This record gives sequence, structure tokens and C-alpha cells, in this order.
Amino acid sequence: MTPGDFTAATVTEPRSSRSLKHVVSVAALVSSAVLAACSSIFGQDLDGRYDLVAAAVEVVFLDVGQGDAVVVRSPEGQTALIDAGPGVDLSAALNQLGIEQFDLVVATHPHADHIGGMWQVLQSVPVRFYMDNGQPHTTTTYLTVMQVLRSRPEITYLEAVPRTLQLGSVSIEVLPLPPRASSNLNNHSVGLVVRHGEFKAFLSGDSEQPELQYFLQAGVVPDVTLLKAPHHGSDDAVSEPFLAAARPEVVVISVGFGNSYGHPSPSALFTYPRYANEVFRTDQHGQVTVSGYEDGTYKVTLGATVVAQGRARPSEPGIPLPAGAPVTRPQPVGTGIAISVFADAPGNDNQNANGEYAMLSNDSDRALDISGWTLCDAARHCFTFPSGSRVPSEGMVIIYTGRGVSDRARFFMGSGAAVWNNDGDTATLYDRTGQAVASHAY
Ligand SMILES: [Zn+2]
Repeated sequence: MTPGDFTAATVTEPRSSRSLKHVVSVAALVSSAVLAACSSIFGQDLDGRYDLVAAAVEVVFLDVGQGDAVVVRSPEGQTALIDAGPGVDLSAALNQLGIEQFDLVVATHPHADHIGGMWQVLQSVPVRFYMDNGQPHTTTTYLTVMQVLRSRPEITYLEAVPRTLQLGSVSIEVLPLPPRASSNLNNHSVGLVVRHGEFKAFLSGDSEQPELQYFLQAGVVPDVTLLKAPHHGSDDAVSEPFLAAARPEVVVISVGFGNSYGHPSPSALFTYPRYANEVFRTDQHGQVTVSGYEDGTYKVTLGATVVAQGRARPSEPGIPLPAGAPVTRPQPVGTGIAISVFADAPGNDNQNANGEYAMLSNDSDRALDISGWTLCDAARHCFTFPSGSRVPSEGMVIIYTGRGVSDRARFFMGSGAAVWNNDGDTATLYDRTGQAVASHAY
């Protein structure tokens, strides 16, 4: 690192914790890039292995025009990508960040300004885990992503159910999703809280007021340092009760210059500065990097030539991510139906029956009616699909082991204990006549 790397940096920290004097002193140290001094100032557990920059979680808002693409990198070098922009080529930005693989890729919801660039990412960068909200979509963009995922069986699919994923010392909490009551995909955006010690960031795709209200009522909105403005600062996503709970110091609006939606709205530009110390916009500031430290301090770097340059650390595959990893892979059969089983729930399987689940995915171009069909394990724990059940074309349904309210995409076996054996089991799908139509042993 050279001192020049920090020239665009602004340094500040949560208003609640330290004095302005301290902020200024940190800024001076950072701009002179005296690493040893920074280390002691920040009190990190550096022990010679990590310097100041690497000891932070970095949340990088890529400048992708009208859309979202956010890179999260842990101090240990593990990486996540939250959305992949509208289809602009991300390779230069990812190269500059030194990204060689993603441990986790999340599609918050299947709109093109969030997954337009996803297929390219999935094809060009090794990815370990892929998460989405489990809601199939009909667009070519979505179907292309699914097609690429199917061609990359080494990528493990995760649905966004409440769970905590660990990226080294950074945890990513997946928030509960509102019930799918409407066709509004924005309000079914995957919500994430990124934590590194006292530093917290809230990212929730294109949530509008109904989903923000849901998060509030669910009690999952912590006092955060960083907020990604939901829905690009749209009018419908400005919620004062939400902001009063989230209390962000920094708000970043990911938005395209001169976009036709009028994002960000005048109300966002009026309201965010009343809650946050600073508001940044990718259309005005380009790439925005927020570095968060364990003690809750943070640093914002503007521009494409940022502190991350030259700092990439190889991921450590030995560090587990996440709990709940599946033990099997889909096995297509004649019907176009593939069964996969995610047997190892986070924590105690018997106490977390919905942490394990089976998935039926339909590779064919026709929806498959599975009314009255039955899915069983080797020990004949079975679930019969109710009338009207179908697996959409190029889509999937999830069958959770535990109890819950079924909708068209999710079913619940109603078991109070684990069903799928972690050490090996067989999932068999029988049609209405009792004929086995698909089977998968692992
Ligand atoms: Zn969007």
C-alpha cells in the first residue's frame, strides 16, 4: 500500500462512540498510512498478520449504473457478492478488488437490475454457495441464471431462510422473509445484516415500506452503521420508523445517473441526511467502499482506486461456510425432475427441522402436476403433495421437514424431528399410482 491509496478516504465513526478529536487523529494516521500506528489505534487483533485495512470488513458498492452489486469481504479474505448489477461487465471491478472467487453469492430478488449480470459472474468466477429468495420468475434473465446454476453442480444452492452464515469473522444474518402475499417481488427481497464486531450493515435489495415494516415487526432491525438505501432511494422505500430503528451513520444509494425511474426520490434525499451523517450515491461518487472495524468505527473510500487494491487474500477453504450445507447434489431423471436433499440443518437437526429440506427442481419446459404425489425417505417417512401442487417449468419447490404454512413453492412435512439422515439416505418421489418416478440416494 502507498499513502496515495488513502487520498480519497474520509474517515469517521458512529456518532455515539467517540469524539471528533479522535476521528481527526485517525484520519491523519490513515492518510499517512502508518500501519503500525493505525493498528494500535484501532486495537485490532492484528498480531502481525493483518494490517489496518485487512482487519476491516469491506462493503463495496460497485458502480453498476441503475442496479445493485455489493461485494462484502471479510478480514480473512472471504467474499460475498450481493446482487450482480443490471448486466454491465463486472470483471474489471472484480479484478481491481482482487476477487478470485466468491464464497457466497446472493440474488436478493430476480429483477434484472439485480441479476442481469449474474450469469456472467457465475460463469467466470468460482462460487461456493448461491442464495436467492426461492421465488421462481419467468424472465429470460432469471431462467438464464438457473440454467447456468444447473450447469455448475459444484455451486451449492441455499434458500434465504433465517440463518447465520459465517464469512470468517464476519457473520451474515439472513432475515425472515414476509409471506408471499403479493406479486411484488421487491417486497420479497432477501434481507441481510452483515456484522463485524460492533459494525453492522443492513442490505435488503429493493424492499419497500411493506417489507421494511415486516422487518421492524419481526424485531430484526438492529442499530446499524451502514444502510444500503432500499430500492435505490425510491419514494416507496423511505420509511421513517425503519430509519429510526436502523439509525445508520452512512447511507449508500446504488443508482444510475439520469435513470428513468427518478431514483433517488426527493423524499429520500430529504430524509436520509436527517438520520445519517453521510449519504453517498454511486451515480455521483462512483464506487463506494465502507470499511467496518470490530470496535464499530468505519471508513468510507470513494472512487475506483481504493484501499482494497492489492490487498486480496486468498480465501481459506478450511473455514466453514455456512452451516446447513447440503450433502447431496441434484440428480435429474426422466421426468425432468431432480431431487436434492439438504440434510444437515444448522445446529441440532431435531431442534431445527426446517433447517433441513428436500428440493424438487423441474428441468423441463413444462410445469409438472404433482398433486397426490409422495416424497419419502428410506425409512418411509413420507409427505404427500396436496391437490393443485405443481413444480413450475424451469422452477423448483422446497419441502421443509418441519411445520409451517405451505404455499405454492414451499411445503412442510410437519415433522417434529429430523427426517433426512445426514450420513446417507434415499429420497424417492412416487406418482399418484405409487410408481417411483425419481429417486436420489446420497
Ligand atoms: Zn432494483
